[in-house]
Amino acid sequence: MQQHTGQHLLSAVLLDLCDAPTVGFHLGAEASTIDVAGALEAGQIREVERRANQIVFENRPVMVSYQHSSEDLGLRKPTEREGVIRIVSIQNLDRSACGGTHVRATGEIGPILIRKLDRIRGNTRVEFLCGLRALERARADFQALSAIARSFSAPLDETPALVDSQREKLLDSERARRKVATELAQARGRELYVNTSPGADGVRRVERRVETLSDDLRAEAQSFTAGQKSIFLAIGENPPSVLLAVSADSGVKAGELLKAALTKANGRGGGSATMAQGSVPPGASLDELAKTLASSLDLTPDTRHLPHPPDT
Ligand SMILES: [Zn+2]
Repeated sequence: MQQHTGQHLLSAVLLDLCDAPTVGFHLGAEASTIDVAGALEAGQIREVERRANQIVFENRPVMVSYQHSSEDLGLRKPTEREGVIRIVSIQNLDRSACGGTHVRATGEIGPILIRKLDRIRGNTRVEFLCGLRALERARADFQALSAIARSFSAPLDETPALVDSQREKLLDSERARRKVATELAQARGRELYVNTSPGADGVRRVERRVETLSDDLRAEAQSFTAGQKSIFLAIGENPPSVLLAVSADSGVKAGELLKAALTKANGRGGGSATMAQGSVPPGASLDELAKTLASSLDLTPDTRHLPHPPDT
C-alpha cells in the first residue's frame, strides 16, 4: 500500500513539476520504478523528492470515490474503461482510476526516497522507495559509505573527493610502473643480446617459452632485435600464441614466415618484416608450430629454452 500510493503521489508530482507523464511503473520487493516520458536531470529529481515528501508531511487524505465514465472525471491519466469507475484521489494533487489498495492519508506512505535514474528508449526510469524500505535503504547506504570512510580514516562527506584523488594517484603510479617495466624489459633485451653468442652465420637467435605474451616481452624482443643480425622467437602458452621479432639484416621476413607457419597450424596473424604476432586455436598443437618455426629459423638446442627471468 505504501509503495503503491507513493507511486500515485510521485507520478502526480513528476507531471506537475517536470511535465513528465508516467508511461509505466513496476512495484518490486527491493525497489519500485516509474517510467516517465522524456529526460530528467538530477536537479529536477531533488525538487520532485522534496515536493513529494512535503505532501507526505501534509498528511493529505487519500479518498476513494465512484463516478460514471461519461462524466468529466479530471483524471491524471484518462481511462479507457467504461461504466462505473473507481477513482483514488490525493487531496488537491491527483485523481487516478485504480482498483488497488491504498493508505488512508499521505502521512502513512512515510519517507519517499528517489534513487537512480536510467535512460530507457527515450524514457526515464525513476527508482524509488517508500516508508520503512526507504529507511532501510538509507541505513544500508550509510553503512556502505561509512565502511569506505573508515578505510580512508576520513569524515564521510570527504570520501567522494578522496576516492577521486586516490584514483588519480593510482593512475599516476600505474603509468610510472609501466614506464619502469618497459625500461626494464628493454634493458633485459639489450643484456640478452650481449650475452647471446652469434651462430656461424653471425646471427644471434633466442627462443623463449612464456605463459603469456606481454607488452614487456614485446619491448624486450624489440630491444633485442635493435641489435644487428638477431632473431627473437617467443611462444606463449596461454592463450597459445607466438611472437617473432627480427632485425632487418637477419635474412628473415618475420611477417611472411610467421603467416605461412600459422596458416598451416590453423592459426591467424602476421605483421611487418621485423615484428609479427599470431595465435592458434586452443587445443591446436603449439609444440608442432614451435618446431616448424624453430626449424625454419635455424634455432638450435643451444639457443633455445633460455631461462625466463622472474616476472616483474
Ligand atoms: Zn492505485
